[in-house]
Amino acid sequence: MSFKDVLEIVAYSGGGFLGYFVLLDSLSLLSLRGSEKIKDYEHLQEVAKEEQIRLGLEDKNIRVRDFGYKNEGPGVSRQSEDGPCGTINSFYDMFIPSKSSFVNRRMALRHEHYHIKDGHCDSAYNLGWYGWKGRIWNFIRNSFYDEPKTILHCLKSRKEDKF
Ligand SMILES: [Zn+2]
Repeated sequence: MSFKDVLEIVAYSGGGFLGYFVLLDSLSLLSLRGSEKIKDYEHLQEVAKEEQIRLGLEDKNIRVRDFGYKNEGPGVSRQSEDGPCGTINSFYDMFIPSKSSFVNRRMALRHEHYHIKDGHCDSAYNLGWYGWKGRIWNFIRNSFYDEPKTILHCLKSRKEDKF
């Protein structure tokens, strides 16, 4: 095997790796297409509540913030009053960028609520988001299991009247 062969293998596998994330991102954006737009802060809270009820998460303490900025989120993580991975008044911190015309939609909220329902935030929380081992494991788990499962749920739910 020559050096050129090795380079070729690296290029192929790297391309496959990159291709996977491009595909994942494309499907995620596809699930948002045509979804109801969030008008303002009140509407954001209203739609978030509807999605919380839709997924049977009434007993969960979820805080929905308007993040404003274009390139941040949407996202959700589990937090506590006493800092990351703390134990006092644990809650789910969800944020949506209202200034982004594309992701500021009902389906983005459904996506984040599904992460809560399926326990994705809890597994990340239990591992500790802030340790390097936790970060690596969370990245792998999120990229190859949690995220595709969530996107699939959202794509399937597009048959419902409100999406
Ligand atoms: Zn996600």
